[in-house]
This record gives sequence, structure tokens and C-alpha cells, in this order.
Amino acid sequence: MDRTRRKAPRRAPSADRHPVLARGHAASAVAAVAVPPLEFLAHASSVLAASLDYETTLSNVARLAVPSLADFCVFDLVADSGAIQRVAWHYEEPAREAAFDDVWRFVPNADLDRHPVAKVLRTGRTEFVPDVTDAWMEAVATGPEHLQLMYDLALRSLITVPLMARERTLGAVSLCRVGASPHFTPEDLSLAEELARRTAVAVENARLFREARNAEARYHGLFSNAADAILVADGDGQYLDANPAASELLGYSREELLGMRVADVVAAGPDWTEAEYARFRTEGSWRGELDVRRKDGTILAVEAQATVVPSPNGPVYVSAVRNISERRALERLQREFIAMVTHELRTPLTAISGYAQLLRRRQAYSDSAVDAILSQVKNQERLLHDLLDASRVETRRLDLHRTSVDLTALVQACVDQLRSVTQACAVRVEAPASPVEGWWDRGRLEQVLNNLLSNAAKYSPDDCDIEVRVEALDAEARVSVRDRGLGMAPEVLPQLFDRFYRVESTAGRVSGLGVGLYIARSLVAAHGGRMWAESAGPGQGSTFTFTLPLGSPPEGR
Ligand code: ADP
Repeated sequence: MDRTRRKAPRRAPSADRHPVLARGHAASAVAAVAVPPLEFLAHASSVLAASLDYETTLSNVARLAVPSLADFCVFDLVADSGAIQRVAWHYEEPAREAAFDDVWRFVPNADLDRHPVAKVLRTGRTEFVPDVTDAWMEAVATGPEHLQLMYDLALRSLITVPLMARERTLGAVSLCRVGASPHFTPEDLSLAEELARRTAVAVENARLFREARNAEARYHGLFSNAADAILVADGDGQYLDANPAASELLGYSREELLGMRVADVVAAGPDWTEAEYARFRTEGSWRGELDVRRKDGTILAVEAQATVVPSPNGPVYVSAVRNISERRALERLQREFIAMVTHELRTPLTAISGYAQLLRRRQAYSDSAVDAILSQVKNQERLLHDLLDASRVETRRLDLHRTSVDLTALVQACVDQLRSVTQACAVRVEAPASPVEGWWDRGRLEQVLNNLLSNAAKYSPDDCDIEVRVEALDAEARVSVRDRGLGMAPEVLPQLFDRFYRVESTAGRVSGLGVGLYIARSLVAAHGGRMWAESAGPGQGSTFTFTLPLGSPPEGR
């Protein structure tokens, strides 16, 4: 630490007796290098116009002011937080660099009213102290170190002028003369005020420019990263800009889109597009659903919301576009599902009502009619049960009640049950001689097996020949159900297990809800197993396979 600072503040020796100050004063004899005011201001104006970065500009102005107007010059600006920030300062005395550098440390708090900078920023009025006295320094000092600094610099004369723009105090410029330099005169004050006025305009411009650039960067970030496609067009529908999401949605690069018009993209045709675009122009906004044509020719359903945005070069037409093809598919699925459920539930009801009418007409009990009614009621129950299960899968409320189960015995029981209801089917079972046991939910596995077996029978209208294989591999049991029935195209295989999915070519021939496989796969997955389907193609039969982890019940069960 500097020795002088450890002691109480003490007045600096007079300039001619102090070797460092003496050198400093020789270099900072302001009057000796004085520049005519008009020339000085002309220089200042060109410096102020040179850059839109205000830190650079202020630093250059400070360099201009020293030594022609002052021995040192400091610019303070008010930050958005209200704090005072010392942004630029200049002095030209290498010998007293350390002392001047400390100027940087003594930035006052905004509420420290006695400090000239804080005072000027609060009042918006110039602080002119042509003759700095010890008493003044003692009154304004922020503390002993600050006072010592003013002593060390031999502060002689001070002007602090506010930088005002649009009735706002942006900051202040402080000009100081030290040592043997002459006191500031009223002419110096006028010059300083004019310099401050010009500087304030430049700072305000630089600040506005920076704000505009920040805003642009912010909006550009929003535009570029928006999940929705955003397209900007002119009044003729010519695209002016497109964000990456728009390129992704439409399959065109931004450059390609800039050479295109709205009508090139909207699939409804130019007449409709022109008419709607004209309506959009007059009404100032447009919202609706439409189809767009992607670069690869595919048509995409989208929802668009468009607004007219005023800009200095005339209005621009901004549309936010969102892909709604999934929503449309879901809506279609819902419509189809309701039609399917209605149909499937009505079929057993029609049969029940037919048999009931038959009984009434005959006025006699008939075993076969009652059996048929009961069988249709069972069908109805199964459908409702499946729907309930599908909703349980959806809401993850499928609980398993595990016990020790022999898969071979379970398969055999399900096959026997199938045989009892469908005599037309030949069903073979291949299974190991020893039990294939695991810790599973018997009822749920029965449901899975019944679904696969009844599908194999249902979708084999001509040749019902079913083979069921049970295997015990290393860590898992595997069951496959093969039929020689309708089979399916390989491309539909991945969708078979989707909720409500039915293969179009077979759905028309056989009744069903399209939830059996969805539930079966979810049940197998809940057991920790997998399920998949294979088919060599339509008419080639299918094989459905699932696995289940083998193993004993966890400890303590
Ligand atoms: P559902 O049989 O009630 O329609 P599933 O979920 O059990 O519902 O089956 C979904 C679809 O998979 C069926 O509609 C059918 O198109 C196809 N499918 C299922 N099993 C077979 C099979 N063994 N052979 C041919 N297609 C099948």
C-alpha cells in the first residue's frame, strides 16, 4: 500500500517543491496547449460521429479534452439499475499514473449527495468549482482515501456537467485541472457545457443503437428458435423471410422460400389464396386451417395465424404456421372409432333382439335361441371389457396379480377352450415336457393367449390351421401362435399394436375393435416381456410371438 495513504490525509506539497508533481505540472500546463474553442468543438464532433460504441466514443472525447481543456477528464454514466458507472477517463501524466488510476476507484454511490458527480446526476445542474479549496475537498470527499487522492493530485479547478438527452440525465462529464494549471474560466465552462451537450446526443444515439441491436438480436433469437414455422411476406404474398421451422415444415430452404409466394405453398389453389390474402390485407389478421404443399409434393394440414405488422418500409404480413396433421389424424381416428364401436356393439344387440323376437313369435322356449342370446351377451361383455382395459392401459392402471403359473398348462387350457368353440380349426401345440413356470398374472396371460388364438382363428376364414409353440429359453419363456390365414403386408406390422388400429384389407371382412393386440402387448410389457408379429405378406399367414421373463417369485412371496 502507498505510504501516504496509511497516514491521515495531508495536503500535497506545493508543485515546485515536489519532484513528481513538478514534472507532472510541466506536462499538464493546459493553457500552453489550448486549442481555439470552435476548432476543439469541430474535433469533438468528428470524434463523436466516428463510432456507435459509446465506451469508445467517450474514451476518444476524454483524449481530446486532455490536455487542451483539462488535465484529466472522467465520464460517468447512470446504469439501468441507477448505479453510477465510470465508463471512460483520461489523463496524460505517466509519472502520476498510480494516483490518476485511483480516480477509477472513487465512483460515488448515487445517493452520496456531497460528491459533485452524484449531485449533478441528481439535480441535472452543472457543478462549477473554479477554485478548489481544502475546505471544499474535505466537504465532498467520500472518505480519507478520496481526500488523500485529491490532495495528491493537487486538485485545483473542477467542472462537472450533466449529459442530458431527451430530458433524461444519462451521466456526467468531469473536467479537472491540477497543480499549476490555470483555474477554469466561464469560457471554459461554456465550452465544457457545449461538449457535454454534443456528447450526450452521441451517447443517446449509441444507446438507442445498442438497444435496437439488442432488440433485433432478441427477436431474431425468438424467430430462429420458435417451434412454430414463421413466414414473413409482403403485400403481394412474396416471401421476405422464413425461420428454420418453416424450412423444416415445408421442405424448402430459406433461400428457396424467398423466391416463392404464398400461393406457391398453399394447396387450395391461387384463386382461393389470392382472395383470402386480400381479405387478410384488409382485415389485418387471418386465422384458419388450410393445406400446404411441401417441396416433396406431400400435402400437410396446418393451422395458420397471420397478422399485419407495420414496419418503416410498409406493412409486412407475418404468419405463424403449425402442423396439425397429427391432430387431424387423431380426429379421424376418433370418428372412425366411434363408428366402429357403434357398429360392433350394435351387431350383438341386433342378434339378441332377433332371437328374442323369435322366442316371442314361437311362444315356446328354445335352448338354441337362449344359448345364442347368452353368447351374444358374452360378446358384448367382452367388447366392453376390452374397451375398459384399453382405457386402463392408457391411464396406466393395469395391475398384475402374480402367482406361480405353468405356461404350458395355461396354453393347453386356452387351446382346449378354442377347440370347444371353433371345431373348424386344427390347433397343434408344441411344448416342452417339463412345466415352463414363472411369476405371472394367470388371468392376464389367459387374456393375451385368447386374443392371439381367437385372432388366428378369426383371420383364417378359409384354412384354420393353427400352431402354438411354447419354449423355455435361457432367461425367458417364448410363445408363438402361427396361422395360415389372411396375413398382412410387412409395412403394416409396426402399427398392428397401436390402439384402434385395424388392417384395412381385413377389417371389412372380420369384426373387431382394434384394441386386442394393443392390450395384449401392454400386458406382456407389464410383465417385462416383448411381443411382435411376422407375416410374409397378404395370404401368407401370420405369426405372433411374445416373451416373458422366467424366474421365481421375489423373496418373501
Ligand atoms: P381386432 O381383431 O379386434 O380388430 P386386434 O387388436 O386384435 O383387434 O388386431 C388388430 C388388427 O390386426 C386386426 O384388425 C387385424 O387387421 C390384424 N390382425 C390381428 N391378428 C391377425 C392375424 N392373425 N392375421 C391377420 N391379421 C391380424
